[in-house]
Amino acid sequence: MAAYKMWIGGKWIDAVSGKTYPVYNPANGLEIAQLSLGGKEEVDKAVEAARKAFPVWSKKSQAERSQVAMKIANILRENAKELGMIDTIDHGTPVKTATAIVAGKAVNFEWAAYNSRSLMGHTVPQNPNELAYLQHEPIGVCALITPWNFPLSMILVKLAPALTLGNTCIIKPPSIDSMAALKLAELLEKLEMPAGTVNVITGPGGTVGEALAAHRGVDMVSFTGSCETGKQIMSLASRTVKRLHLELGGKNPVIILDDADVTAAANQMAARQFSNSGQICACPGRFYIHEKVYDEFVEKFVTATSKLVVGDPMDEKTDLGPLVSAEHRDRVEGYIKSGLDEGAQIILGGKRPAAAAMNRGSYVVPTIFTNVTQQMKIAREEIFGPVAVFMEKFNSDDKVIEMANDSTFGLCSYIWTKDMARGMRFANEIAAGTVWLSNALTLAPELPWTGYKESGIGEENSLYGLLEYTNLKRIHVDLTKPK
Ligand code: NAD
Repeated sequence: MAAYKMWIGGKWIDAVSGKTYPVYNPANGLEIAQLSLGGKEEVDKAVEAARKAFPVWSKKSQAERSQVAMKIANILRENAKELGMIDTIDHGTPVKTATAIVAGKAVNFEWAAYNSRSLMGHTVPQNPNELAYLQHEPIGVCALITPWNFPLSMILVKLAPALTLGNTCIIKPPSIDSMAALKLAELLEKLEMPAGTVNVITGPGGTVGEALAAHRGVDMVSFTGSCETGKQIMSLASRTVKRLHLELGGKNPVIILDDADVTAAANQMAARQFSNSGQICACPGRFYIHEKVYDEFVEKFVTATSKLVVGDPMDEKTDLGPLVSAEHRDRVEGYIKSGLDEGAQIILGGKRPAAAAMNRGSYVVPTIFTNVTQQMKIAREEIFGPVAVFMEKFNSDDKVIEMANDSTFGLCSYIWTKDMARGMRFANEIAAGTVWLSNALTLAPELPWTGYKESGIGEENSLYGLLEYTNLKRIHVDLTKPK
């Protein structure tokens, strides 16, 4: 059985307690490794190492750090297959997509490398005898606390800007899916960075994550995960008024208007709904379908969904692997039960796969609910599994906008119409950080990703996201001196 150490201060170390914990392959429930059970002492060590590395790393020229970022991009491409395979075994990411997901994040490092070299300050016109200018400076030690739904990618989108701009980083990967982060550390070890520039601590959020969020030596927490944890982190970080970046959950409305291209909408939305077995913050959360196209959309969505292959993530044909863990499968099944108890109807799925080969894995087949009403739990909470929620039919644009906005979340939304003027009215009125108008395109490092309401604070990606990892300093010079 593989046993993994943590990477702190440029060394591979065991937990001071000597304790480890097991992680499992969700496709078959078998133990795959023992990870070091980090805790408060390891957090102290990592913070000390990252603080020591900061003056050295932050004082390197931007050109030097950008070169390191470019090398990381190459490392990711060269090792994408192996890193992707770890996510497959650890998380259940289908091999069909695993390599591309990792390789795709190489672009984030290239983008950060180029754009950090073009970040310019400003001078502020004021008194002719004064020079007032602004400069962006790295913040210090950043704790990157990330979720399991894309175990490595979620780290990489934060690491690229944070590291390239001169911060030192402590990565706290999801406790159940940390192996890819440890492999990443092994690959980064060969690069020329001061010891402690990047550290990885494994262990539970309730100890490692909380200790990082509360630690006086951590200057910023960049967190992606659930709203509940985000709120806890806000509270802990408030003790030292840390910089916070929070990418939280979503319950994203999809609105199919009566003039939509129903075939395109059904195909693209089914793909988006069930990708990564529905464990994506940007997944559709609630479908509002106009009464005139309701039957056609449902039929086409069911047809597209029925073609998806649920199976072993190691099989190239598989579209949906298992859910991340048996515990999460039980949570998703709890939502399915709650939907039925509250009177919604299942028109597809709702169970585990019949094949005996999948008995030991944490699988749930693609499931579609209809007749869901606004107050039902499955309409209000994030399910984070392969469950599509079709609300009752609508026939009024005003009313559907009101219902779509009736949520504590505001991450993203999908509007399907051929009338762009009508679509833009929806785009303007929907309270969400991203609106896809008649498409379901991908994310990219140059495009900001952010949440309204309880879906988060701050921007990931884009120039706005790059600047999240900097402090803005104003410097005044008196041009009349010396007198
Ligand atoms: P989670 O909040 O349970 O855990 C996220 C991370 O926080 C993990 O590393 C965990 O160990 C750590 N953690 C847990 N408790 C903590 C605490 N008390 N203090 C500090 N850290 C703690 O989330 P999850 O279940 O891993 O991921 C799923 C959630 O992530 C969903 O809500 C999803 O919407 C969200 N998510 C959001 C985005 C986005 O971009 N907005 C992207 C991906 C996932």
